[in-house]
Amino acid sequence: MVKETKFYDLLEVPPTASEAELKKAYRKKALRLHPDKGGDPELFKEVTHAYEVLSDPDKREVYDRRGEAGLSEQGGMGGMDPQDLFSQLFGGGGGFGGGGFFGGGGSSRNQGPRKTKDLVHRVHVSLEDLYKGKTTKLALTRNIICSKCAGKGGKDGAVRSCHSCHGRGIKVTMRQMGPMIQQIQSACDECSGTGEVINMKDRCSNCKGKKVIPEKKFLEVHIDKGMKGGQTVMFRGESDQSPTAEPGDVVIVIEEKPHDRFKRQENDLIIDVELDLLSALAGGHFAIKHLDDRALIVNLEPGEVIKNGDLKVIHGQGMPSQRHHEPGDLYVKLTVKFPESIDVEAIPFLERALPPRNPIQTFDKHITIEEVNLDDTDTRTRGGVTDDHMDEDTDEPRVQCANQ
Ligand SMILES: [Zn+2]
Ligand SMILES: [Zn+2]
Repeated sequence: MVKETKFYDLLEVPPTASEAELKKAYRKKALRLHPDKGGDPELFKEVTHAYEVLSDPDKREVYDRRGEAGLSEQGGMGGMDPQDLFSQLFGGGGGFGGGGFFGGGGSSRNQGPRKTKDLVHRVHVSLEDLYKGKTTKLALTRNIICSKCAGKGGKDGAVRSCHSCHGRGIKVTMRQMGPMIQQIQSACDECSGTGEVINMKDRCSNCKGKKVIPEKKFLEVHIDKGMKGGQTVMFRGESDQSPTAEPGDVVIVIEEKPHDRFKRQENDLIIDVELDLLSALAGGHFAIKHLDDRALIVNLEPGEVIKNGDLKVIHGQGMPSQRHHEPGDLYVKLTVKFPESIDVEAIPFLERALPPRNPIQTFDKHITIEEVNLDDTDTRTRGGVTDDHMDEDTDEPRVQCANQ
């Protein structure tokens, strides 16, 4: 004797219905009520929920004994997504090509068909290849549906629903904890969570009953000129195949390798160039080997002086933009290398060429003049400088110092 018959009524079966009868009844109703077939989404949800409960012997027992109220007292897990259950029964995606219709009643699930996991692979690309563009071949191993058994895992009829878990692949055990009944969900050990069992002798010899076999596949990844790190190249549907889900995507993530000479900022390039003092003062040339097979010879006009730290730009020699391949700019950061020493006899020429020395500052008569030498700093004095500097970082001693 059952307490309520609502769930049975929804499926139009008597409370004595067997597992198989329930499944059959749900299939029939679900196909008719599926929102993609113009069915009422709310009713579909209710029917699915009813089947979810009744197809689980433990839940069914609670429902029979205590009705719907008994189920809600258990708390915990929460209902399954109707689309998930539907997919489990009918194979990937529910057969009508997509979800999206469960969003109406407060639930915001808006997922497409069930898919296998995307395969994400990072490719480290040199700046040269991002500048010129490149096609790389990538080998990946993914599962494909076994062709011998067409993804069934064995000959027709060999695949049976697992008795232990009633084909769900999961086992729910109830545990009484004081006034609460706790549900514990775990993968079924009989069928390793697949919900199906195939006799050893009936198993497909090609895939050993796994339905899929690994396959090596080569993908041609086209790295477009001007691509940036973090951008992706998608191969739709090239991830693992599965008999119950649509294949996910292979996602190639571009990673830009650091370059030893160029830095990149969006579509601009930045390079450090060290210039000798004579070229900086009197003009000359320097070369920049570019990212392709060109070298740029840069002219320094005589008469113009390059100062240490000057930033110049060469227009149109940066990275190509991805869309129209319009080039950005190349920024040149110039440092001037001074000679270690200079021939004393050459000094008069410098004195002729360069602006005169700054005159020395004059002082009042009462200031004592002392002549001193500049020495190179050695490690000991430099250490002292560092110590002083560290003192400045701590607030307190400085305040005390100022008060003295
Ligand atoms: Zn099982
Ligand atoms: Zn097979």
